[in-house]
Amino acid sequence: MIKQITKIILAFTLFAVANMVKADVDGVRVWQSPAHTRLVFDLSKPHQHKIFTLKNPYRIVIDLANNAKFIPEISDVDLASTLLVDLRTGKRSNKDLRMVFQLREDVDPKSKVLPPNKTYPHHRLVVDLVEKNPKIIEPVVTVKTVADKIKHNKRDIIVAIDAGHGGEDPGAVGYRRTKEKVVVLKIAKELARLLKEEPGYKPYLTRTGDYYIPLRERTRKARDANADLFISIHADAFHNSRAHGSSVFVLSERGASSEEARYLADKENEADLVGGVSLGDKDDHVAMTLLDLSMTATRGSSLAVGKSILKRMDKISRLHKKQVGEAAFMVLKAPDIPALLIETGFISNPGEAKKLATSKYQKQMAKEIFRGLTQYFYSEPPEGSYVAWKKQGGREVSGTVASSTSSKGVTAKTNKSYTIKRGDTLSHIAKRYKVSVNDIRRLNGIKSNRIQVGQRIKLPAS
Ligand SMILES: [Zn+2]
Repeated sequence: MIKQITKIILAFTLFAVANMVKADVDGVRVWQSPAHTRLVFDLSKPHQHKIFTLKNPYRIVIDLANNAKFIPEISDVDLASTLLVDLRTGKRSNKDLRMVFQLREDVDPKSKVLPPNKTYPHHRLVVDLVEKNPKIIEPVVTVKTVADKIKHNKRDIIVAIDAGHGGEDPGAVGYRRTKEKVVVLKIAKELARLLKEEPGYKPYLTRTGDYYIPLRERTRKARDANADLFISIHADAFHNSRAHGSSVFVLSERGASSEEARYLADKENEADLVGGVSLGDKDDHVAMTLLDLSMTATRGSSLAVGKSILKRMDKISRLHKKQVGEAAFMVLKAPDIPALLIETGFISNPGEAKKLATSKYQKQMAKEIFRGLTQYFYSEPPEGSYVAWKKQGGREVSGTVASSTSSKGVTAKTNKSYTIKRGDTLSHIAKRYKVSVNDIRRLNGIKSNRIQVGQRIKLPAS
């Protein structure tokens, strides 16, 4: 009984203290990504808030109850190159804080309060503004086209490059405040540049600036880009600052290959919490249930390309582990695309952080990843790709789509066939030949989602 009373008194005291604490906005950050703006407010405690929009001009109004105060200098809130024109603050009904942002476009606002975590000791109010009529076309890769890149009509190998973290999520912060999100974007862009110059390759960057993308969104983007490979680039921290060296990981559903692998996977999987995800985290992709894949095929390819890259990285950095590691990284859960996570080094190690911050080392790292992956694709070129064609001395590869012609010499649309190769999935084949997965299934009487290497299937007319 006494215990219970104590509990009630304690609860009452906490409640009273919580209500007495001044509820303030301690900081504001704005992150701009294509067609989406994220506003983050550091709060001294979780507030009740209300959000609505106004027109002529477009504005978003955020009201915070409980006598909230706006602590930062308004002039310190950097709105340059964002959707926001200006910010005004004032009092409402003499007790609430009202913040009014003027906008360039009409938006749909969504908000959520996130609890504190290791990176952010504050409660955070995250407000996502999605443009109703987005005009910004997402840049694919912002590097110059190379004039002398060989023109060909074969398929390019598409490599999705995912620079880890971004925006609200700095990733690991190491020696001299070196931020993982900055280092990995530079390596990713350099890798994209190299691939853009290489005949037969097309890079796709999941992010091109300093903004956060939810983990699942990253692989969805790669899938939409028809990627043949997904590479997520990181530079992480370990509690032991002596830990050093680079490593390559593939997805494991069964468990991590080492304690560090588990630790790193746990850290990486926290990114959505830190990044302030409030959009799209509910829409579990229906597509996932339709995945037609042989997970084994993509796993085999992931391991093989991982080994090839690891071998190259060994030339410039001491490897953390000689083998490709395995752990349950959420960002690698794209079972229809071979996927890798590369830790380019430990930013928690002063020596390594110093190196990772230099453009010379970033370029070397990108170059070795590039070499490793192009070597892999040269040994296992995807069907119908320029690289496959080149490997065969520029002749048509046997086993690609075989079209028979009718007596009049016109290509008969329904007579195409295709032999399943390693790493193939029904959805990839369907996309490549612009037909639907269901039509392939129907035509071939495939009921389950399984396909086998060497299996010959008929392709419907596209
Ligand atoms: Zn990371």
